[in-house]
Amino acid sequence: MSGGYLGFNTLLLHNVKGSYSHGSTHIPIYQSSAFKHESAEELEKIFTNKSMGFSYTRINNPTIEDFEKRVTALEGGVGAVACSSGMSALFNALMNVLQSGDEVVASAGLYGGTVELFTELEAFGITTRYVAHNLPDEYEKLITEKTRVIFAETIGNPKLDVTDISALANVAHSHNIPLIIDNTTATPYLVKPLSLGADVVVHSSSKYINGNSDAISGILISGGKFKWDDRYPGLIPYKKFGPLAYIAKLRAGLFRSTGGCLSPQNAFLNILGLETLGLRLERECDNALELARHLKELDDSFVVNYPGLEESAYHKLATDQLNGRYGAIVTVRVGSKERAFAIMNEIKIPYILSNIGDTKTLVLHPASTIAVTLSKEEQEQSGVYDDLIRISVGIEDIKDLKEDFTNAVNNTK
Ligand SMILES: *Cc1c(COP(=O)(O)O)cnc(C)c1O
Repeated sequence: MSGGYLGFNTLLLHNVKGSYSHGSTHIPIYQSSAFKHESAEELEKIFTNKSMGFSYTRINNPTIEDFEKRVTALEGGVGAVACSSGMSALFNALMNVLQSGDEVVASAGLYGGTVELFTELEAFGITTRYVAHNLPDEYEKLITEKTRVIFAETIGNPKLDVTDISALANVAHSHNIPLIIDNTTATPYLVKPLSLGADVVVHSSSKYINGNSDAISGILISGGKFKWDDRYPGLIPYKKFGPLAYIAKLRAGLFRSTGGCLSPQNAFLNILGLETLGLRLERECDNALELARHLKELDDSFVVNYPGLEESAYHKLATDQLNGRYGAIVTVRVGSKERAFAIMNEIKIPYILSNIGDTKTLVLHPASTIAVTLSKEEQEQSGVYDDLIRISVGIEDIKDLKEDFTNAVNNTK
């Protein structure tokens, strides 16, 4: 199926060619560490890239490859590598091109784990400079002759700042630097960053792609268009692979040598989850918009942050860039940490836990959890305040969520 004329939800179900054994409608879980071959010559060909095939699951596996193909098609890329976690995918995506002495320019509203990763990379001679405001001009000001990657999230978690991907890709490319986008919070349902000029897209597929919070995983997808020059010396031997140079280098090099592979079982769970990505996101985004509006009405002292609200500084950009919906994360400032805790403890339906992208609504107090190691100033730069609750909105009936929040707010006045 070419897929050119099919809608998002149809593609989710039918975007992989080929049929599985016995007429099975799902790919089997190839729970096998290694793959046998008929002859020594055959295995030699696989190891020397002269024929396609599987040898060892740390490098690849049919179930994992099926997941990679599905996400590659969804994001409109040329190839993908699935990893053991979103952090592993980020590490691989970055370190496939960076080396000691290089610099990264990144947005300040990043996921805390990613900021911690950039801090870890300092020990390997890689420095990250952060823009205070997520505006393409600000990134450009921080670019030096050592900059080798521009990094941003489509919708920052939990700042909910929206990146102008096309404008940022233009800035990056005018300096011959690739743009890497973490598209976890938006998913290809809301936007396909490669089509707007990004060069590599990364997901924590533990979140919306999996959808049910039953497996940790990550994936990176290459657009295949970036022209690697000699400022990326590791890529030079792989230029013979054309658009697949970035993926070929990674799979033959860092990915295989650091061993952060996905398990076939988790790849399978992600494939199941993917089938409902469009349906879930549609419902979650609609619920998020309604809940954001409701929270504002509940108490006019609340500061509700959601790109779908007209007063959001990112509303226009999000409207232009996303597919008419605004993501499923809402944050609300309720006046004090005590009130935030009281509301969270009073709520009946949402779970208090550190995750996003579940079918169930989740609430978190970022300042005392995922952002607790950041200084006050760093917290504010990443959109975290002592009185802020982050809500990852699920697929529940919205009337139940509204009622639950209404009761919690009224009972904690
Ligand atoms: C959760 C998350 C990650 C990290 O992914 P894991 O699967 O937990 O390793 C990276 N980026 C964003 C935006 C996330 O939300």
